[in-house]
Amino acid sequence: MKKILVLEDESNIRSFVVINLRRSGYEPIEAENGTEALEKIKVNPDICLALLDVMLPDIDGFEVCRRIRATGSKMGIIMLTAKSQEIDKVTGLMTGADDYVTKPFSPAELTARVDALIRRLGVDEDEKASVEVSSGPFVLNTRNRTLEKNGVRLKLTQIEYLLMKLFMENPGKAMSREDILSAVWGTDFAGELKTVDVNIRRLRIKIESDPTEPEFLTTVWGYGYKWGY
Ligand code: CA
Repeated sequence: MKKILVLEDESNIRSFVVINLRRSGYEPIEAENGTEALEKIKVNPDICLALLDVMLPDIDGFEVCRRIRATGSKMGIIMLTAKSQEIDKVTGLMTGADDYVTKPFSPAELTARVDALIRRLGVDEDEKASVEVSSGPFVLNTRNRTLEKNGVRLKLTQIEYLLMKLFMENPGKAMSREDILSAVWGTDFAGELKTVDVNIRRLRIKIESDPTEPEFLTTVWGYGYKWGY
């Protein structure tokens, strides 16, 4: 059974989430504050996804997210945000979260998001052959899901990896933000197009020498993006 960390300080919401995850065949690991969450992750290195509440009594959910990513972990991360926290959605994506769910959410909505992210993370798991895609100074390895630029490994989130894979496999092709959203986040992801822009911006910081003058991941004005190398 796949382990999912549930970080939520409000016990009634936490139990609600835990019950629904169990019903969907997952093994929830509970934490009621940020410190406890990080400890649980340490003793359960096989946790594949974390649901992180933002407002917590000790360290906030974004800081927990940052610390998880700082360890090099590629687990899926979904932020649980309150409705008024529009800005938090963007901050969440910038700190390395893969998705967010706005409170209050229905059990169906939550498990749909969890299932979708688990599917995205496992897309290449069964691929036996090591496949490398090269473009300019970049080499993408679809077996171990890594990216190198001039032989140096770049630290990517799963979403950033999937974006690079999409672009590098379609060199020179202009792709609309809608196409990118459905290819990377899935057709069942009711996300905003802004999500694409936020992640592209973050990816550029990692892959471009000058993110303000992108050489590889270029903008197609009024349409979307293109792997321009
Ligand atoms: Ca809370």
